[in-house]
Amino acid sequence: MAQTIFTKILAGEIPCHKVYEDDKVLAFLDINPLSRGHVLVIPKEPAETLDQLSDDSAAAIGRVLPRLSRAVMAVTGARHYNVLQNNGVPAHQAVMHVHFHIIPRFDDSGLGIDWPAGKLVDGAQLAQAIAAKL
Ligand code: AMP
Repeated sequence: MAQTIFTKILAGEIPCHKVYEDDKVLAFLDINPLSRGHVLVIPKEPAETLDQLSDDSAAAIGRVLPRLSRAVMAVTGARHYNVLQNNGVPAHQAVMHVHFHIIPRFDDSGLGIDWPAGKLVDGAQLAQAIAAKL
């Protein structure tokens, strides 16, 4: 995997505003927040996208996401938030190291979402195909 800005943060080569660290996970404030309290949660394991991450690192992130979310909500006073995880440039991933955003939602700031919902037409077949790949 190519070096990224997050690799440098993990190596201590550039600073961050750290809010949490354990042996598998680092969380820090986003430098260009969509709202106050916008936090990034990253695995220490190098992986570009979520599908490339080990079960161990994924579990470690999953274990701390609720606790981090509670802390962000408590400090910012936000009652609503988005957890966002982008994979690939067309999906708006800018830093090619897996990361989860915790983005508090206030009336006038947070994540804006265009949600062009369609209609599920081949659910049985599609679900079966995905399940068969697991
Ligand atoms: P994404 O579009 O999902 O790849 O989001 C990457 C995020 O990383 C953006 O929200 C950036 O503001 C954030 N970011 C980039 N560089 C830094 C940095 N040095 N410290 C903290 N956050 C950063």
